[in-house]
Parts: sequence; C-alpha cells; structure tokens
Amino acid sequence: MRLSRTVIFLLLTLALGTARADWHHREAAIMGTRIAVELWADDGAVGERAVEAVLGEMRRVDALMSHYKPESQLSQINQRADREAVKVDPELAQLIIRAARLSELTGGAFDITYASVGHLYDYRAHTRPTDAEIAAGLGAIDWRHVIVDPQASTVRFSRTGVRIDLGGIAKGYAVDRAIGIVQSMGIAHASVTAGGDSRIIGDRFGRPWIVGIRHPDDPGRVIARIPLVDTSISTSGDYERYFDEGGERYHHIIDPGTGRSAGEVRSVTIIGPDATTTDGLSTSVFVLGPQRGLELVEKLGDVDAIIVRRDGKVLYSSGLGEPP
Ligand code: ADP
Ligand code: MG
Repeated sequence: MRLSRTVIFLLLTLALGTARADWHHREAAIMGTRIAVELWADDGAVGERAVEAVLGEMRRVDALMSHYKPESQLSQINQRADREAVKVDPELAQLIIRAARLSELTGGAFDITYASVGHLYDYRAHTRPTDAEIAAGLGAIDWRHVIVDPQASTVRFSRTGVRIDLGGIAKGYAVDRAIGIVQSMGIAHASVTAGGDSRIIGDRFGRPWIVGIRHPDDPGRVIARIPLVDTSISTSGDYERYFDEGGERYHHIIDPGTGRSAGEVRSVTIIGPDATTTDGLSTSVFVLGPQRGLELVEKLGDVDAIIVRRDGKVLYSSGLGEPP
C-alpha cells in the first residue's frame, strides 16, 4: 500500500515535470491548401508560439504571392508590368529569379509565364481555352519575358499578354521559410506540410518520419512509404486540380511548350535538400516526363525521384534503387 502510493507519487511528479515538453499538432487551410504542422518543444508555450508562427508565415507568403488576391504584389505585377517596372519586396524579386534559374536548368519545362495561357483554364468550372486562344497566348510564354532588377527590386515584362504564377514553387518556399522560423526558436524536431510539399527536421521519437505517396486514382491507397529525416519531399499529381472531358484529363500542370496539360505521367515525387527545390522540381519533372525527368534528377545528384507513369508503372531514381 505504502509502496504503491510512493510509486503513484513518483509517476505524478514525473508526469507533471515533463508535461510541458510535448508534440504540438495543427492543421489549417491557407494558400488554398491543407497546412499541417507537427513539432516537438521542450517548453509548451514555445511550441504553441512556433505553431502560430508557421501559420502566420504561410499567411504572409500567401498575401504577397497569391494570384487570387488582386492586391497581392504578384497580382500587381500581372496588372502593370507590361507598362512599367513594378516595385516589389526583394523577397519576391529573389523568388522570381530563382524560378528563372529553374527554367534555365529544365530547358523551360518550369516556367512561371505558363500562366499567360494557364489562366484560361478553370478546373472548378470545367472550362479551358480553345485551340485559337492557346495559339494566341503561346508567344507570351517564355521566362525570358520577365525582367527582374534585383538592385531596384522591380519586375517588368518585355511584352504584353504575359502573366506569371508562382503556384509551382511558392508552397515549397513558404514551407522552407516556416522551418527557418521554428529553427530560430530552438525547435529541432518538426514537420511542416503545405499541400504536396513537406520539409522535415530531426527525427520523430528517435525514428524517421514516414511519408506516404498516394495512389493517383485512390486517395486511400499508398504506393510507397518513405522514411525521412532532415529532408524535403514534394509530390505533383494530375489529381489535384483537374476535370475530365471526352476521355482527356485537363489538369493544373501545363507544358509551357504547348499550353496544355502535361500527359506522360500521373505523379512525380521529389526528395531533396529543401522544399523550394523539391516543389519546383516536382512540377518540372512532371512536365519533362519520365525519361528526360529522370535524366535531370540523375544529373543533379542531390535529389531523388519517384515517378508514376501514365501506364501505372512506378519508376525510381538510382539513389532509391528498385525496392523489392
Ligand atoms: P500543387 O501542390 O498545387 O499540386 P505542384 O507543385 O504540382 O503544385 O505545381 C502545380 C502548380 O504549378 C499549378 O497549379 C500552377 O500554379 C503551377 N504550374 C503549372 N505548370 C507549370 C509550369 N510548367 N511551370 C511552372 N509552374 C507551373
Ligand atoms: Mg511543385
């Protein structure tokens, strides 16, 4: 009796003493997608502040870069940059420069001016441009039409009809920013997700975090489970925003060369050092297709890829090997 009381007392002391160190979880809808945060904090108050800081950062990046919000700096560029150099935050100018580097690296498969034609698709309303509209808009798709002056922090278009959209890279960027913020608060174990883009720091209970890659046709089925520590992972799929018509799938990843949805693959997952890179590359490899996409991944060396081909076959880059 006495002993069990002592044991209970000890357990209580232990429980109270460690109650503040804990995992913190939160989900929210920001940037038109699902945001999920999971982090470990030794101090409960710091943990809650870190979660709030992540969500706050997502809202900040969204307000700056959303093409849905007419008052965002990105929308200001689209409204005026064909006539004048539009002053923007250096941060936005830098991300546009980073997007241009990715365009160069991918031979134009990644191109934020895809939106010159891309804005004519409305996946919810099931509307798409006519052949004539695509033909008329194609000339405006070329990342070289976007002229950034990093000193003056301005953006200008070299011709009319150009539009940009950072949807292929902004979520990964926001995730990287959020991870930087929690790290500066002393957090060493965290996972931050925005839609298909996640970055992970540290481990989870001494084990890797497990990230599942879903089956393109069945959100309930997982085609692979990947153990991850200190890395980023992004998936682009043709099932995120789309509509089907006449046996064709019209979805949100556009081949800048044709102004039409890229059709060779169903999904691309990229694993790499940071989420801006993996986000941009998942969109790029989707456009490039399995062969040219894997060639690029092998050339880069510090990233890996899992590609679900149109016929359902799953391809892995050499860093992952062929799993059993
Ligand atoms: P999501 O997580 O929204 O599915 P992805 O990483 O798959 O994002 O990228 C798709 C988004 O990228 C599109 O919604 C669009 O905003 C943008 N995008 C589409 N095609 C291209 C392209 N060829 N180059 C750059 N961005 C693109
Ligand atoms: Mg992407």
